[in-house]
Amino acid sequence: MCGFVFLNNVSADGVARIAAHELGHGAFRLYHTFSSDNRYILPEGTTDNLMDYNGGTALYKYQWDYIMFYIKKLNRSGLSLRYS
Ligand SMILES: [Zn+2]
Repeated sequence: MCGFVFLNNVSADGVARIAAHELGHGAFRLYHTFSSDNRYILPEGTTDNLMDYNGGTALYKYQWDYIMFYIKKLNRSGLSLRYS
């Protein structure tokens, strides 16, 4: 898997948050909190969630469940993805 993110004038914390956000999309198939593809749709910019556009870093339980589902799926496929 490969991807590119272009950043300009972003703090180190911002880079980490953006990387986590993009990994949420790419590796764990998380949608924006405001996406109509999302299980629970919230107005854009109204949460402290990582998958919103409000600078947040929180995740909801169902998002952790998706992440754990894909980690287990990757591990079953033979990839060694470690987490703690
Ligand atoms: Zn996004």
